Amino acid sequence: MKTIVIGGGPAGMMAAISAASKGDETLLLEKNEKLGKKLFITGKGRCNVTNACDVTDFFDSVCSNPKFLYSAIYGFDNQSLMAFFEEAEVPLKTERGNRVFPVSDHSSDIIKALEKKLKSLSVSIYLNTTVTGIEIRDGEAAGVRCDGRLIRADRVIVATGGLSYPSTGSTGDGYKWAKATGHEIKKTYPSLVPFNLSDEFVKELQGLTLKNVSLTLQKGKKILYREQGELLFTHFGISGPLVLSASSYAKGEAGNFELYLDLKPALSEDVLDKRLQREFDNAPSKSLYNVMKELLPKSMISVILDLAQTDRDKKAGQVSRAERERLLHSLKHMPLHYEGVRGYNEAIITGGGVSVKDIDPSTMESNRIKGLYFCGEVLDVDALTGGYNLQIAFSTGHLAGGV
Ligand SMILES: Cc1cc2nc3c(=O)[nH]c(=O)nc-3n(C[C@H](O)[C@H](O)[C@H](O)COP(=O)(O)OP(=O)(O)OC[C@H]3O[C@@H](n4cnc5c(N)ncnc54)[C@H](O)[C@@H]3O)c2cc1C
Repeated sequence: MKTIVIGGGPAGMMAAISAASKGDETLLLEKNEKLGKKLFITGKGRCNVTNACDVTDFFDSVCSNPKFLYSAIYGFDNQSLMAFFEEAEVPLKTERGNRVFPVSDHSSDIIKALEKKLKSLSVSIYLNTTVTGIEIRDGEAAGVRCDGRLIRADRVIVATGGLSYPSTGSTGDGYKWAKATGHEIKKTYPSLVPFNLSDEFVKELQGLTLKNVSLTLQKGKKILYREQGELLFTHFGISGPLVLSASSYAKGEAGNFELYLDLKPALSEDVLDKRLQREFDNAPSKSLYNVMKELLPKSMISVILDLAQTDRDKKAGQVSRAERERLLHSLKHMPLHYEGVRGYNEAIITGGGVSVKDIDPSTMESNRIKGLYFCGEVLDVDALTGGYNLQIAFSTGHLAGGV
């Protein structure tokens, strides 16, 4: 059996390892001059290779089509992936939130281990090789076209990734081939990506990091996302862990979301109201602006006082009950005006992709074209940050390879 794998990212490398391990003559085709260009920049160069959570909890962090992934994840789970790297002499460590990294903090060690395994299994690796199309004969995959020539194969595995960070080689080629061969493509969108905001105050807050705040993303009455954590104001809007996670639920939509911050999530409205009252009583002749220094970072004070329509120079002792209530509301419910997500250049992953309805979850083979397989980010699957997306790439690649 001859297998061609298109794409030398984590999904493709693992698919090639898996195919060669079961005895296939395996070719790995990669358009870049090296393997794993995106893998190299993951986890800020440290590569958060998986998440060491209980595997049954894994699916809670998968945002699209978790059930489709059952066979792939249970067949090659996070423990199996960690064992794979430990056996390949890449010691791993587990950090906050069960995030797993190489002890060396070098993603290059992960790439080297995969390359070494590919070589030991005699996988033929063609670099600088851009596949331009998939050859279909009698409704079955028969090979690929590249550099104007045809390379024949019995099986073709598409592991070309999504559209995010296109400079790493992920330019959406797999979607085009999937569409041309009759597969449904679920609308793609940048995900794990910052938000644009239309609020003028964003410029004043640029560079401010808020820890332990709560972000809510809501559509109508439905709360799509609410978590506590860290957020960062930028020149265009907001970024940071909370925002990236929230973007998985915005699904690239342009608007119609209500977005707000609770700047004091640890305090109930009642408790915060008493705290405000106490601060004002303790320093009645201080200006409101100066009293608020006890509660907020400096650059945030004017923004909140403006939102609450209060006078920054007013003496704390003269603040009316109505003003205090408005202040309380602004602190617990600071509105942010969502203007859509940033682009693919800044997106950690691509949402949408090849519809899982067209793929057999127990093999990753297409239900439409025999001998054609899809794995990794090209599929309509995505998860939160924390190592889940790489695990999905490795697990679906492992399954597509066929071991
Ligand atoms: C900045 C950043 C940080 C990230 N950090 C993490 C992290 O720490 N943990 C985590 O779990 N996830 C992380 N991710 C997400 C993770 O990198 C992806 O989910 C994962 O790389 C997807 O793997 P893949 O193999 O499906 O696709 P890719 O890694 O995109 O690989 C696809 C490969 O196919 C090749 N290719 C494409 N078209 C062709 C063609 N026509 N011919 C030949 N080759 C082709 C490309 O050049 C590329 O090498 C991060 C992503 C980014 C952008």
